[in-house]
Amino acid sequence: MFESLSEKFSSAFATLRGKGRISESDIDLVAEEIRSALLDGDVALSVVEKFVARIKERSLQALPEIRKSTNQSQEIYSIVNSELVEILGGPARRIRFAKNPPTVIMLAGLQGSGKTTLAGKLALHLKEQGNTPLLVAADLQRPNAVTQLTLLAQSIGVPVHAPEIGNGVGNPVSVAKSGIELAKTKLFNVVIVDTAGRLGIDEELMKQAREIKGAVSPDEVLFVVDAMIGQDAIRTAKAFEEGVGFDAVVLTKLDGDAKGGAALSIAETTKKPILFASAGEKLTDFDYFYPDRMASRILGLGDIATLAEQAKKAIDGDTAKRLEEKFVAGEEFTLEDFLEQIQAMKKMGSMSKILGMLPGANSAAMRKQLDAIDDDELIRTQAIVQSMTPKERRDPKILNGSRRSRIAKGSGRTVTEVNNLVDRFSAAQKMMKQMRGGKIPGGMGLPPAMASGISGGISGGISGGIPNLGSPANRVPPKKKSRSGNPAKRAIEEGR
Ligand code: GDP
Repeated sequence: MFESLSEKFSSAFATLRGKGRISESDIDLVAEEIRSALLDGDVALSVVEKFVARIKERSLQALPEIRKSTNQSQEIYSIVNSELVEILGGPARRIRFAKNPPTVIMLAGLQGSGKTTLAGKLALHLKEQGNTPLLVAADLQRPNAVTQLTLLAQSIGVPVHAPEIGNGVGNPVSVAKSGIELAKTKLFNVVIVDTAGRLGIDEELMKQAREIKGAVSPDEVLFVVDAMIGQDAIRTAKAFEEGVGFDAVVLTKLDGDAKGGAALSIAETTKKPILFASAGEKLTDFDYFYPDRMASRILGLGDIATLAEQAKKAIDGDTAKRLEEKFVAGEEFTLEDFLEQIQAMKKMGSMSKILGMLPGANSAAMRKQLDAIDDDELIRTQAIVQSMTPKERRDPKILNGSRRSRIAKGSGRTVTEVNNLVDRFSAAQKMMKQMRGGKIPGGMGLPPAMASGISGGISGGISGGIPNLGSPANRVPPKKKSRSGNPAKRAIEEGR
């Protein structure tokens, strides 16, 4: 997401960073580079002009102060960051719930923008927050939209009101109305109404959406728009604003190679906040839209807040607590713990997606590494660990040649792969010991499996790891250099 934009921003700042003293012409130059980066990123011209003018104005105004700073480029960076947050819509907003339930949320947008998928994502999100949502299948136009919504609803255990089969049959306004009635009698506290879209903007579509809106008086009309359509998103948003009217925007397909144009232009041009962001086909690929986190990603600072939140969701509280206690107590991190971590990481999504949230992930060098990640590696690693006995997982030192060959056969992998895994696991174990000893600064909260690049085979690993919990216990004594050729013996010699 936003790779090229992010790269161009970094190169614009790279020139500034080299300057000890920033001049007016340096500001002009960086503003010009940002301008061309945004135009290349398909951002609407009016937004680009305003944004660049604001940056120039604020930077020039603050120049006397900036010159007093020991890090002058950082000051400009902060101005760009705060202006980026501003054009992305300022502070994040949440769903407005009705005082008297049910809260009615209507989805509007073009066909294929991701409305039906979003209805499922939103329902799951609301359910997880303790709400009782009802899905209403009022897209009676698109072939299979009703079936799609019904199946989605079943998969997340949310009731669906789908009295018509759709495919051009039935009256969407009556379906929407009866959905609200049903929610009132059955005490659902939120109703999500999926509506029909067309491939392009047309009056018939607007009329139908207007009628549904008039019939159900939604608390929130969410305009769902595919971020990949770039500048067209603005045209479509304007047409929907005039034809139907909406309260907030949902950006979908942010996982695609979107240049960023839609995200950066839509809040500013429509003056409506972006409420949610959807970045994948899975129902869990969905979150609130945080302008500050998005700005941070665009500026190449990653999105540590989201990464930490996802990690927290994927690793349940008990497991996290147990691992933390183990860590503090100086107990050995075992392959059993590692297996749990792999499973948690699988829940968080693909490795490249997770690591893509780290600072600098959009740099060309890091992207190359991320593109080279083989997500199936996680599955292969899991198969190897699962082929070990519980005793072997707890004590990999006993893994002699014959055990390793048995594990290789059992998991359908080669002995070399088993050896590699055990070696990389030992390296992760060592790293954890060093962190406990305070030798490696922590702070990222990444599982050791990820921090060491153990499962993805990322060369060099990613620095960071479990947060430094401040325990000075268990400093590792220096190791002897001699190494046996036998892997099991070597493990014993190295004290793993
Ligand atoms: P609707 O016509 O507006 O209801 O659109 P759908 O919900 O059927 O979505 C159209 C297509 O986009 C489907 O193939 C979805 O799986 C896909 N889709 C929806 N949201 C996302 C997303 O955030 N990322 C990606 N990659 N695909 C998405």
